[in-house]
Amino acid sequence: MTHDALEGVVIYAMQRLGIKQEKLTRFSIKNTQKGMCTSNGGITLPDWIFGKSDEYQIHYAIHETTHLKYPDHGNEFKAAETIINQDFGISIDYSKAYAKELRNSRGETVYVSWRENRKNKT
Ligand SMILES: [Zn+2]
Repeated sequence: MTHDALEGVVIYAMQRLGIKQEKLTRFSIKNTQKGMCTSNGGITLPDWIFGKSDEYQIHYAIHETTHLKYPDHGNEFKAAETIINQDFGISIDYSKAYAKELRNSRGETVYVSWRENRKNKT
């Protein structure tokens, strides 16, 4: 996916969360280990996600955007994250806070967690 396409996912997710688009003060994709969402409306995604499936990239963008509304990974966070992913045909199997597996609209697995090998903290 492109930078602009992922920014579009972020803006879509914000609409779904009932957050005004102006709340997004900065959107960047950087050479960093993990994504980030700041309280003043800045979202950063790590550039290594470009090596993953489109679905994973969309999921990652939605995950960080959902943090604009819910700072933690509680039930409300997961419910919102799940609904917005479904809009893109993506279903999530959770392992505690994070997705351990993602499937596309055809039921094909498009991501399996690698956090057994390396902690994936977003
Ligand atoms: Zn998170």
